[in-house]
Amino acid sequence: MTIIISNSLKIKFLGGTLEVGRSAVAIKSRKTQLLIDYGIMIGFEPGFPMHVPPNEVDGIVLTHSHLDHSGTIPIFHIRGKMPVYGTPLSFELAKLLITDLIHISGYYLPFEYLDLQTMMDSCVKTNYREPRKVGDLTLELLESGHIPGGAQAIVESNGKRILYTSDFNSSNTGLLRGADQDYGNIDVLIMESTYASEEHMDRKTVEQRFINRVIVIVERGGTVLVPAFSVGRSQEILCILKKFQFKYSVTVDGMAKDANNILRRYPNYLRDGELFKSALNSAHWIKGWRDRRLATKKPGVIISPAGMLRGGNAIFYMNNISRKKENAIFLVSYQVPNSPGRKLLDTGKFIIRGKTMKVNADVDTFDFTSHCGRKQLIKTAELVGENAQIFLMHGAEENCQRLAKEIKTELGVNAISPSTGDVYNI
Ligand SMILES: [Zn+2]
Ligand SMILES: [Zn+2]
Repeated sequence: MTIIISNSLKIKFLGGTLEVGRSAVAIKSRKTQLLIDYGIMIGFEPGFPMHVPPNEVDGIVLTHSHLDHSGTIPIFHIRGKMPVYGTPLSFELAKLLITDLIHISGYYLPFEYLDLQTMMDSCVKTNYREPRKVGDLTLELLESGHIPGGAQAIVESNGKRILYTSDFNSSNTGLLRGADQDYGNIDVLIMESTYASEEHMDRKTVEQRFINRVIVIVERGGTVLVPAFSVGRSQEILCILKKFQFKYSVTVDGMAKDANNILRRYPNYLRDGELFKSALNSAHWIKGWRDRRLATKKPGVIISPAGMLRGGNAIFYMNNISRKKENAIFLVSYQVPNSPGRKLLDTGKFIIRGKTMKVNADVDTFDFTSHCGRKQLIKTAELVGENAQIFLMHGAEENCQRLAKEIKTELGVNAISPSTGDVYNI
């Protein structure tokens, strides 16, 4: 009897398909199973990727610290160590964000702080372009241009190369260099689709418009509230203000302070470490309620979570800033439908603890994205070539399906938007 041993690789989609959140993919060779990301879906109750028995997993890749990619990894550390591969910076930022997740949603989580600690003890620090063996697979991380420390992953087995872009941005921003797209030969591309139906405005135009608007508000004696996520967007705004030599008060609140203290130690991950350091040195840091109240009373910029005005100190600031018409609220992140930020943009009203508040301050939005837009996504598919199999995930259902269709018709490449649970043989 002849036993045929297949050398084939299997890819299984565990989450983050036809949706944004709980990203997770398994790559399985004959001997090794490697997971890439194991995120969480943040909602009223959190959602998790499909279950994988920990004894069948050889390692996990952490592409970046955002919770939709990192938030459920500690579930693999309940029974002990399990290697996690990522950049040293991603681990530090992930620890910060997952600790915060445990504080806020601990009741709903299947793991606790001790398991996060075991995860941190299991980390295999992996620099960009430094290949690592995981069983019979080889893993290489490439700069993603998305957030500091973020990576794309190339997994290789028997000459077959799979590229998982994770969240990426191929253009330079104030904070980061654009993604490293020197991919070499790729057989399978797994790509994000967050902005598959949108083109981003030219970055320079966005920066100039932002700075002009901020100066107008401050020079009329107003305060500008910039609600921003603590890791990534807050630092981007700090760098832009510094780059344009903004000379008025800049105040930073929330976890961004802890994130900045970490980033200060990793200047090489940033496009211009010196610019970042001098931006940090000239900013004011909120230490308590007194500082917070004072900040709202003087002309300047306040950068504070949350990006979509849900939670953080958003309610305090909105209460104090939105009533006066000389002030402004400038949204710099994507506002998901039904979020307080989206409602503010659509209706000019803000809902505080069930009460609707009329907003007298100016409200505006600026596209400081850290993801590729439609054109860049298509270009990446083109770069990888016509012989690759393409999978699209990390996008709303219609965005994943639409991008698959466009890539197929425009480039003649096989593109699919898989569902969670789908398995493909490569
Ligand atoms: Zn991300
Ligand atoms: Zn993401």
